[in-house]
Amino acid sequence: MEAKSFEKANPKSQKSVNTCPFCKKNTQPDYKDYKNLLPFISDRARILGGARTGVCARHQRLLAREIKRARHLGLLPFVPKILKS
Ligand SMILES: [Zn+2]
Repeated sequence: MEAKSFEKANPKSQKSVNTCPFCKKNTQPDYKDYKNLLPFISDRARILGGARTGVCARHQRLLAREIKRARHLGLLPFVPKILKS
């Protein structure tokens, strides 16, 4: 479960071998702490891709599921909030 093959493939890339915050902290995405999921949704309330957020494929799958769970429970939005002036 380690991505080492990309290390020297692109020397311009300043990304470290593993940028996944869930791997780093050794945690799993969880709908109950939905506030930690907020950085992974765009301002249009869409789930951001792993290429953009640095989440690995395994955690991206779990993350998408947990965001959908949180949406179902009303913790996270399906659509962006319209601010009333
Ligand atoms: Zn990960």
